[in-house]
Amino acid sequence: MKMNDINILKAALASPKKITIVPHKNPDGDAIGSTLGLCHYLRNSGHKATVIAPNDYPEFLKWIPGENTIVKFDTQKTEAKQLLNESDFVFTLDFNVLDRIESMKPTLQSLRATFVMIDHHQQPADYAKFMYSDTSMSSTCEMVYHFLGQLGELDKITPTIANCLYTGIMTDTGSFRFPTTTSTTHNVVADLINRGAQNAKIHNAVYDSSSISRLRLLGIALNNMVVLDSLNTVFITLTQKELDTNNFKKGDTEGFVNYGLSLKGIVFSVIFIENGAEDYIKISFRSKGAFDVNEFARAHFNGGGHINAAGGRSDLPMEETTARFRQIVGSYQSKLVQP
Ligand code: 5GP
Ligand code: MN
Repeated sequence: MKMNDINILKAALASPKKITIVPHKNPDGDAIGSTLGLCHYLRNSGHKATVIAPNDYPEFLKWIPGENTIVKFDTQKTEAKQLLNESDFVFTLDFNVLDRIESMKPTLQSLRATFVMIDHHQQPADYAKFMYSDTSMSSTCEMVYHFLGQLGELDKITPTIANCLYTGIMTDTGSFRFPTTTSTTHNVVADLINRGAQNAKIHNAVYDSSSISRLRLLGIALNNMVVLDSLNTVFITLTQKELDTNNFKKGDTEGFVNYGLSLKGIVFSVIFIENGAEDYIKISFRSKGAFDVNEFARAHFNGGGHINAAGGRSDLPMEETTARFRQIVGSYQSKLVQP
């Protein structure tokens, strides 16, 4: 963040404030880790701080310290609206367009609070007075660490805060292997461990807490995988029926799309997951190298994200969605296949 903005914020936060912190809908490890990490810091500094999430998050995040204090907008609307209306500051973390919070958007737009954005996605919108946007960052959790560094508050990172921030850096970097992982990221992670992050415990809680039905669903997903050899592309489908017969729980499909990229030569992997209740298909896009899935998702599937990881949606049925995808991806051959 610009040093001038840091100084203004620091002065404003010198006296107790009412603060709400908002992650994107369907929050992931980075969204929950960054909002809670910041929340603990603000509470410890004397502020009244609350995380308000648009909706619920996966079971494998339900051990993160303080997660039981998160207010969910979809099921706790009255409480959430009251907290938002009272806020002096609203921090929005791990997203940069208000569409990402869906039904919370009109409420946020109606507030008198000062908005602060901390985010690493491409093409930020212009709704926040204070903007810390850096698309080169591994994760919003890493940015919260740097934000605390700029405030001169690294020594206020407790083991609880370190655990929160470690979690999001780990999940957003695919356990420190995606190209956004820099030597600075490793330095940050090392410092978080020094300050009390329990790295092995966190890996275990997030990655080794699977149910047998989740592994069976992974089996179905891998079985459904279609390989488009001439385009170095794969896609996976999961219908609502397949989810239902495998006792699907939120978060069960997290990471499935990455299996596509483990195939030799594949640079583009996509998963289409039917959401029967909301009647649309959620899409995740992943790529390796220069193929820009943020552009692809924005151009064709009403989404966005990063160069190598993005999401989007389709309002057509599954068969028509994949037919449309096949047609579109065919026109990208020159970008997907390097001579
Ligand atoms: P995922 O596929 O894991 O849902 O998302 C991959 C990345 O793209 C994440 O950084 C996520 O925040 C972003 N993303 C997912 N869905 C959307 C969407 O519909 N719109 C935008 N702008 N970004 C998305
Ligand atoms: Mn993130």
